[in-house]
Amino acid sequence: MPFVADALLRVKPSATIAVTQKARDLKNAGREIISLSVGEPDFDTPDNVKDAAIAAIRRGDTKYTPVAGVAPLREAIAAKFARENGLDYRPSETIVGTGGKHILFNAFLATINPGDEVVIPAPYWVSYPDMVLIAGGRPVTVETRLEDGFKLRPEALERAITPKTKWVLLNSPSNPSGAAYGHDELKALTDVVLRHEHVWILTDDIYEHLVYGDFSFATPAQVEPRLRRRTLTMNGVSKSYAMTGWRIGYAAGPAELIKAMETLQGQQTSGACSIAQWAAVEALNGPQDFINERRRIFETRRDLVVSMLNQANHLRCPTPEGAFYVYPSCAGAIGRKTPGGQTIATDEDFVSALLEAEGVAVVQGSAFGLGPNFRVSYATSTALLEDACARIQRFCASLA
Ligand code: PLP
Repeated sequence: MPFVADALLRVKPSATIAVTQKARDLKNAGREIISLSVGEPDFDTPDNVKDAAIAAIRRGDTKYTPVAGVAPLREAIAAKFARENGLDYRPSETIVGTGGKHILFNAFLATINPGDEVVIPAPYWVSYPDMVLIAGGRPVTVETRLEDGFKLRPEALERAITPKTKWVLLNSPSNPSGAAYGHDELKALTDVVLRHEHVWILTDDIYEHLVYGDFSFATPAQVEPRLRRRTLTMNGVSKSYAMTGWRIGYAAGPAELIKAMETLQGQQTSGACSIAQWAAVEALNGPQDFINERRRIFETRRDLVVSMLNQANHLRCPTPEGAFYVYPSCAGAIGRKTPGGQTIATDEDFVSALLEAEGVAVVQGSAFGLGPNFRVSYATSTALLEDACARIQRFCASLA
């Protein structure tokens, strides 16, 4: 009998971490590798945020905090939701966790009974189905189509909902596709959920600030206020403020759910790191203009990558609204042969042959539940992106 718990036997290790490790191994072996597999901004945490953390240390704010977060952070979160999303939450309806991932995990642990279903549109962020499995639930994935910009159609959502559905999980802008729902698209989905009284929405808005062109971000509780009592809106400072290592995520939702998550957290982490919480207060309350500057840089990179990938043989790459990922289809490469005679049968073959031949690391679509595709992260310099995309073009041209 295995010593590890059954719940863990159902879980896969993160595929994105596996690719990053393979690229690292090749690099250590002396190969020149460009990694387009990372999920974090290549910018630094702003200095005012770092200074706030240093000040917290000097002040002695280095002890246990209230489990759900220090009061000024919960106030800053409530103010952020009011200012940016038109959502009215009291600080007591917010909670701070150790990263956005932790918030999502605790929302599932706090609500899922064995066999409860969570509807997850595919392609999805790698961790969602595994989190649901660990919590004892059943992930119900619903494939989207490239032709629909990888967005869930209301009819498909309707079909996926059963009496056992507990949550519908939305992630806009999306990791891995970059797709984001405009107001009307989101309204069409919330209309479906509204008709099913037992279903709640968990929305992962962590890429909120990374949207491009004239796209305007919207979130479910804002487009359908009647769903406020059945929505948990999760967000965090990791991506918007380049603070992935600080591990601060947060959410707002109905008091009863927030209380349950707080009870869980009280027996688990006792709350997030005090110093990082004070840094997050400054991130949310301090100057926001750098976000726009960074957004413009990401937009230029997105346009470059989409254009270069669409010039590669056998690839199709839609232009997504946000995040720092694109999710091209490599269906046209399936069944072709590399110069070495290897047949590309899956997106995993494509990705690993690309890494071997050209030293470019991307992540196979099978990890995100929809393929044959691969995810390209453009959170790296323009020069490296140009080089990497030229290599991808060369690799695709070499397939016979
Ligand atoms: N949600 C999505 C869609 C993500 O891509 C990530 C990070 O990659 C997270 C949540 C996790 O964020 P955090 O680093 O705050 O835990």
